[in-house]
This record gives sequence, structure tokens and C-alpha cells, in this order.
Amino acid sequence: MVTEMGFVVVYFFLHQLRGEQFMKNYELQLPEGYVEAKTIDAKTDTKIMVVFSVVSALVAVGAVVVAWLCLGLTSNNWIDKLIGDGSNLWHNFAFMGAMVAYIILHELTHGIVYKVMTKQKLTFGLTLTVAYCGVPNIYVYRKTALCALLAPFLVFLPIFTALPFFMKEPIDILWCALLWGMHVGGCVGDLYCTILYLFKFRDPRTLLRDTGPKQTFYIPTEQNLQA
Ligand SMILES: [Zn+2]
Repeated sequence: MVTEMGFVVVYFFLHQLRGEQFMKNYELQLPEGYVEAKTIDAKTDTKIMVVFSVVSALVAVGAVVVAWLCLGLTSNNWIDKLIGDGSNLWHNFAFMGAMVAYIILHELTHGIVYKVMTKQKLTFGLTLTVAYCGVPNIYVYRKTALCALLAPFLVFLPIFTALPFFMKEPIDILWCALLWGMHVGGCVGDLYCTILYLFKFRDPRTLLRDTGPKQTFYIPTEQNLQA
């Protein structure tokens, strides 16, 4: 089931990029005739920040609730089932470590794709509300942006979906659910940009300046006139 889903996603992704693989990956300067079409700023735009945070939190809580119900936990038995004799308490610290590692690996995955496709200087950052990776000095084409944006989502989704099936302890399965939710919820910004590319910025010439916390879309002007 997970494998089939993976195939569908990869096929859909490649289909979206038909023809674009032969284009340039980026521009050092914004070519003439381009206009700014949209900006997403996860660091200073309060509305975006709130919406992204709420969606992320809902997905994470939703994943934990589903796991809680699947494990048959109730207000009477959860202490017994999750804590037991206390010998598994160290697992909590292992999973907390895994979460921090995941946040770093997620951004590194963006970075690796940007680096391979552009060889340009990257920027990384971490604030209380966002972790980010960008390639601030250039303008990347749609193909490059889509690959970099979707890489962490596609790499970690099968891993975190499979992980709970290797766990025995209810506490571990609950943590796996939180990791899954944190991953999918944490990709909300990446997925929002992807949706914009799929439905709004379908022109392969669309350029993106990704400074990390802020993404600015630029489109060629004749497209602007047609719209
Ligand atoms: Zn991301």
C-alpha cells in the first residue's frame, strides 16, 4: 500500500516536470521582464505563521490521537500501558533526540538537493517557530524548487510510516505517531509552495528566490498580461 502510494506520488511528480528536465536549474540574476507574483514569509507574516503553526499542530495531535485509539488506550489503562514498570522511560529521551535529529535532517535534505542542482551557497537557520534552508543568492526554476521542496517530504514519509510497524511497546508506537505527525505537519510550508506550483505557477519559467524563511515567486510578464 505504502509502495503503491509512493509510485503514484513519484509518477505524478515526474509527470509535472515533463520537459522541464532539459531547462536550466537556476539564474544568477532575475532576468528582464519578470515580476514578483507572490511572497510567503514564515518568519514575519503573522497570518502565514499562525496558519502554518495551527495546521502543523493539528496534524501532529491528529496522528497521536489516531495512535492512542489504535493502541486501545483509555483514561484507566494508559499509565499501565505506557509507563508500566518504568523500564522503558529512557525511550522518551531517545525519541526526543530523534525529533531534533529529524529537524536537522529535514533541512539538510532540502540543502542537498539545492546544492546538487545549483552548487550555490546555502543558508540554514533555526528559530522558535521555523527551521529553514534556502539558497538566497539565486533564482531557481520551478523544477529545481519542486525537487528541493518535496525531497524531505518524500524521503521521510515512507520511513516514518513504516517505523511504528517495527515497534513493540505502546509508548514507542505513540512516539512514532508523533514523529509522523511532526513530519507531515512540519512539511506544511513545503507542501503549500508545492500546491502553488501545481495549480498557480505551472509555467516552467517561474522563478523562485528562496532565502529560507521567505519564498518569492517571479513570473515572466507576458504570462501576467495573458492572465
Ligand atoms: Zn521543509
